Amino acid sequence: MFDLRSASVLVTGGTKGIGRGIAGVFARAGADVAIAARSDVGDAVADLDALGSGRVIGVRADVRDPASCAAMAKDVVDSFGGIDVVCANAGIFPEAPLDAMTPEQLAEVLDVNVKGNIFTVQACLPALTASGRGRVILTSSITGPITGFPGWSHYGASKAAQLGFMRTAAIELAPRGITVNAIMPGNIFTEGLADLGEDYLAGMTRAIPAGTLGKPEDIGHLAAFLATVEAGYITGQAIAVDGGQVLPESPDAVMR
Ligand code: NAP
Repeated sequence: MFDLRSASVLVTGGTKGIGRGIAGVFARAGADVAIAARSDVGDAVADLDALGSGRVIGVRADVRDPASCAAMAKDVVDSFGGIDVVCANAGIFPEAPLDAMTPEQLAEVLDVNVKGNIFTVQACLPALTASGRGRVILTSSITGPITGFPGWSHYGASKAAQLGFMRTAAIELAPRGITVNAIMPGNIFTEGLADLGEDYLAGMTRAIPAGTLGKPEDIGHLAAFLATVEAGYITGQAIAVDGGQVLPESPDAVMR
């Protein structure tokens, strides 16, 4: 059961944070793992290579660009012979209060988080179809689909849009044996989250019933399960991994 050793896995945004955690879980499970990002991928590839028995490659790609996504998918297929699992994880979360948000800021978030997901999946579709057990795993968020946070309305819109994409893609791709699911992380301690500052991190930690921020591997473990052959009857679902963060009716409901 749950054998991922023959799987070929692509993780966008796999050099840092949640993507790195996802890639690490797959690497430890013995899968062949490709990570993609715009900047240097070398250090992350070396670290991941040390974790497992499968192959690890890095690809420079910008998910905002369909041609770059096509080249990314081709590199993975050329290296591993196919793609069984794509984790469309690359995303950004710059703060922009509604009063001050510029069209450029809005476009950037939608380009990376929404169009980037769709371009990534489109580029991988021939390989996922050939796989016969293709898996698409989107990194959405609790922010947007379930919760809100001042300063991130554009981000929340983008993360909810991913779920709209997921539901129809899941229907379209089901006849090909491809499942499409989304993970909704709560607050996971990553480089990107750390950039939001100590006050933000402390406030978020207080709001989480489990009492700690999540780890990137917490997301990776669910991604790995959704990627298995055994998870093939689960599709079109969004699953929160958040230490219970969305549950309290008020801050007083969090027990310490
Ligand atoms: P992070 O630490 O900032 O890492 C983001 C990754 O995405 C990096 O590898 C980055 O590499 C890559 N990336 C960004 N723009 C890209 C582009 N245009 N093309 C290709 N790669 C790109 O972020 P994170 O916290 O791990 O977040 C990852 C995902 O989880 C995002 O979708 C985010 O919305 C979601 N999420 C995070 C949290 C959290 O608490 N951290 C919570 C809910 C959801 P380059 O910059 O080199 O391209």
